[in-house]
Amino acid sequence: MKLDRRNFLRLAGAAGATAVVGRGAEAQARQYQPPPQALGCLVDLSLCIGCRKCEQACNEVNQLPAPERPFDDPTVLERKRRPDDKAFTVINRHYAGRRDDKNQPLPTFVKTQCMHCQDPACVSACIVGALTKKPNGAVHYDEGKCIGCRYCMVACPFQIPAYEYSDPLTPRVRKCTFCFERISQTGGKPGCALACPVEAITFGRRQDLLGLARKRMEDNPGRYEPHIYGEREAGGTSWLYLSSQPFARLGFQTLPDQPMPHLTETIQHGVFAYLWAPLTLFGILGGVMALLGRRNDKEERP
Ligand code: SF4
Ligand code: SF4
Ligand code: SF4
Repeated sequence: MKLDRRNFLRLAGAAGATAVVGRGAEAQARQYQPPPQALGCLVDLSLCIGCRKCEQACNEVNQLPAPERPFDDPTVLERKRRPDDKAFTVINRHYAGRRDDKNQPLPTFVKTQCMHCQDPACVSACIVGALTKKPNGAVHYDEGKCIGCRYCMVACPFQIPAYEYSDPLTPRVRKCTFCFERISQTGGKPGCALACPVEAITFGRRQDLLGLARKRMEDNPGRYEPHIYGEREAGGTSWLYLSSQPFARLGFQTLPDQPMPHLTETIQHGVFAYLWAPLTLFGILGGVMALLGRRNDKEERP
């Protein structure tokens, strides 16, 4: 039977789903190894000026719809935003304790997009292999395989994948592609990294970026928090961050070092072992991620 959207929903209610889904998840789990030559991006938040050129470049590279307000409209920064199906990356402004010479608060700007996790929970949760971790580090989405179950959206510890709810016929899951075609076929840089006028986004091999981050910390004592966000969070991510402010005050999730698939697969296997319907999994994963989210909300409050 072809596993299209309609058949998936039928299958989800049947015990037969146990074997199909369980095998899929295990096969996916076995293939995850952090690739040695994996690429990444280092975002230095102490350099970012909040110009949103990265957002604009991402919009152009991915041929996304024009935004409601132009990219140079500063009022956009007055409210916190999340990446969605029309914007794969967003810049948010935080006041997290930085002050100028006259004791006036200074903003810190934070770029958010898919982190392209080393051991991605979204890949683990996808029961049909529509999301895959590529050797170059990108977490790639294949809309031809997607059945619209949206488990990836529930499993992602960073709440990144967005769904095209506005498209009634062929809705897709949308997220940062890591400019997969550009970096894998032409050896180019991601659009956002290329567009940044102050080189706040450095593209390169992940392990080189970790070395670069450490060198910046050594060369600039007191400038940075002693923490490279993404080095270990959720098993490590391809996108890494340096900051002069504590990450918890800038809306970053405080996550365990353990890769999230260990959590989601443990739940998944337990659920299917007892023949619970996959929709139950949706609820359980949602509860786990909501708890993580609530904990982080509390940590962000001053
Ligand atoms: S941030 Fe979320 S969507 Fe991106 S790779 Fe990690 S788990 Fe998947
Ligand atoms: S890597 Fe590409 S898709 Fe991802 S945020 Fe940058 S420009 Fe957008
Ligand atoms: S283009 Fe660079 S400086 Fe401008 S908002 Fe993006 S990361 Fe910050």
